[in-house]
Amino acid sequence: MLMAMYLNGLADEETVPLTRAMMKSGDVLGPWPQEWSGKVVDKHSTGGVGDKISLILAPALAACGMKVPMVSGRGLGHTGGTLDKLESIEGVSVSASKDKMQQILTEVGCCIVGQTEKLVPADKKMYAIRDVTGTVENIGLIAGSIISKKAAEQLNALVLDVKFGTGAVMVDERKARELANKMVTIGNGLGVKTVALMTDMNNPIGKMIGNALEIAESLNCLHGNGPTDLEDLVLQLGGQLLFVSGNATSTEEGQRKLKETLTNGQAAKKFEQMIIAQGADSEKAKALCVKGSDVWKILPRANFITPVKSKQSGFVNAINSRTCAECSLKLGAGRQASSDQINFAVGLEMCVDIGTSIKEGDDWIRVHHDCDVIPDDIKERLNNAIDVTPSPPKTILTTRVKDIIS
Ligand code: URA
Repeated sequence: MLMAMYLNGLADEETVPLTRAMMKSGDVLGPWPQEWSGKVVDKHSTGGVGDKISLILAPALAACGMKVPMVSGRGLGHTGGTLDKLESIEGVSVSASKDKMQQILTEVGCCIVGQTEKLVPADKKMYAIRDVTGTVENIGLIAGSIISKKAAEQLNALVLDVKFGTGAVMVDERKARELANKMVTIGNGLGVKTVALMTDMNNPIGKMIGNALEIAESLNCLHGNGPTDLEDLVLQLGGQLLFVSGNATSTEEGQRKLKETLTNGQAAKKFEQMIIAQGADSEKAKALCVKGSDVWKILPRANFITPVKSKQSGFVNAINSRTCAECSLKLGAGRQASSDQINFAVGLEMCVDIGTSIKEGDDWIRVHHDCDVIPDDIKERLNNAIDVTPSPPKTILTTRVKDIIS
């Protein structure tokens, strides 16, 4: 059956019922309380480099009165996983029963947990068969797999961050757009108001790559001090979600509401409450989430931080996000096989932005590592990950969002 779907493709009239059947193959979350009607929302990303959006967006949405039952994934290959990033905070557990999730949503408004065995079991079986029959790469099957899991959360609205570019799973923009269109059609076909943002994933998001490093950067953003590209993406995705779910009169109003939660401390407070509800020690969580906190008293820190220097003078034209991700993975921040152990402390910290003027010998990236010296191949790859040109780039993106599909 999968081979026939792969070879012939799936029409929308086929993908929607297939996804509905997958969704109904096991438990679904809810039914949610009547008073949450219109407020149960979530976001899905197709996977990026330095992608910590969920860690900021879920609490910010909760601070706006939304309910976010986020079922998320682990990192495998070059993209990191939100669950692994959360687990770099001591004590946090990412497994929760349906009842526990509902309790956290009632008390806090958001949770970020892993998929249970009972949620969409058909997807697990189908994915395993797709893997061994060479039928993974089919737009209809990928879209059905992703949306079945989100639809099982019984959402009112869903925003999709569909990435393209060097660091994306789907590098080709045309293919990513095809996937976005398919997911929007299926989501809406299943009664979830769904909107997709096509976003540029050529250079890493924000400045940090690696689990604890990304938690530190997320906390800065939750306090309104995040890098501009990261905050923009959080606000754009969340603004769309508040608008399509009917909780803002426009995307701009949605963005304003979310921005306020980042500047008035409410989003950071929700993050603190969420990690306590998921098992973190309350005193440590408070110390971690207070504005101006020395987060490295709480988060795991690598033994060594070594800068890599620019070989040229000029302007930063590009930073290859895939190369950075692969180096971070090799340092131990990710998994090559699903059984691999993660080192939460290691990763990369960029010192420059696209367009930054740089001199030969300036630090451009800092490597956080636990091995005594940075392996030569990683150093060599990082030397080649930055493109420095004599004149500034002609255009510098003011937002990663290229298009909105609804
Ligand atoms: N993510 C999923 O959940 N399923 C796919 O098929 C691909 C990506």
